[in-house]
Amino acid sequence: MEQREDPALRPKNLDDYIGQERIVDNMRVYIRAARERGEALDHVLLAGPPGLGKTSLAYVLAEEMGARLHTASGPTLERGGELAAILNNLDQGEVLFIDEIHRMNRAVEEILYPAMEDFEIDVMMGQGPGAQSVKIPLRPFTLVGATTRSGMLTAPLRARFGIHATLDYYSVAELERVVLRSAAQLEVPITPPGAFELARRSRGTPRIANRLLRRLRDFAQVEGDGTVDTALTRMALERLEVDDEGLDKLDRRILHAIGVKFSGGPVGLDTLAASLGESRDTIEETCEPFLIQKGFLTRTPRGRVLTPRGRAHLGLPPPVQGDLL
Ligand code: ADP
Repeated sequence: MEQREDPALRPKNLDDYIGQERIVDNMRVYIRAARERGEALDHVLLAGPPGLGKTSLAYVLAEEMGARLHTASGPTLERGGELAAILNNLDQGEVLFIDEIHRMNRAVEEILYPAMEDFEIDVMMGQGPGAQSVKIPLRPFTLVGATTRSGMLTAPLRARFGIHATLDYYSVAELERVVLRSAAQLEVPITPPGAFELARRSRGTPRIANRLLRRLRDFAQVEGDGTVDTALTRMALERLEVDDEGLDKLDRRILHAIGVKFSGGPVGLDTLAASLGESRDTIEETCEPFLIQKGFLTRTPRGRVLTPRGRAHLGLPPPVQGDLL
């Protein structure tokens, strides 16, 4: 289970929520419309790599709707009865957030279909030949599902979400705002160029920016004068093995393995994962989307390939003629 971050750094409402402008602007409309009609907000599916603000957005949506948020996680919902009980306890207009919704098992998922569509659940009463299916009505609620792998959602589940939003990596300017806001909240003195340097090297991800900021605060306190400036940021990120483009050690190991061990690729995901001793999910969900966005790696039908930019970043010589893709 991933460590949950400091709730103090979570945006509280839509005005606090930095970036993802198109999504935020549309959400304002849907929230206002639902509130004016006195209805629950339609079900929302949030997709995107870890740390981009899916959970935060779910909290913000509930806050803006003036509703309570309940949380659950796809892989830990093992029995349908458990989910049925959670649904049955939701009050009118409340929000149920299910993280990693693509990892729910089929039996649990099927409870959601009538719950989302008709606000009712089918419960089996009794056992054996006398068993009967009974429909239990639910109070209208909003399901917010988060997934790092929207492609893994089944079609019937995906179709039941009225609002779909895919979060993008943040720009440097947006992450600078995240860093300055968090620094103010944590009372860490930071210079604007220091915030820029950190934002630039945070992998487009607010969770990473916040995590690195905490480590920078430690270095500033123990080895500096308490202030996070450019020099301190560079020194600390070097110690944390975050490179000039924001890549961490695992990102570089992936690129290096493809470039050297597998001669630039293509190499299949399973082979790559085994050679690195890492899980394929971590590589596919956490590392690759950023490396692809950076143009360091591409996915082809035959496997992963290192791009010329990726080679250059590692300082590898261009491939010899004839070896070119
Ligand atoms: P996800 O659910 O996508 O993995 P989270 O919502 O848990 O990501 O975000 C991780 C952290 O990053 C949050 O606790 C929050 O501090 C910060 N964060 C995420 N999105 C934003 C945002 N849009 N504005 C400000 N901070 C954000």
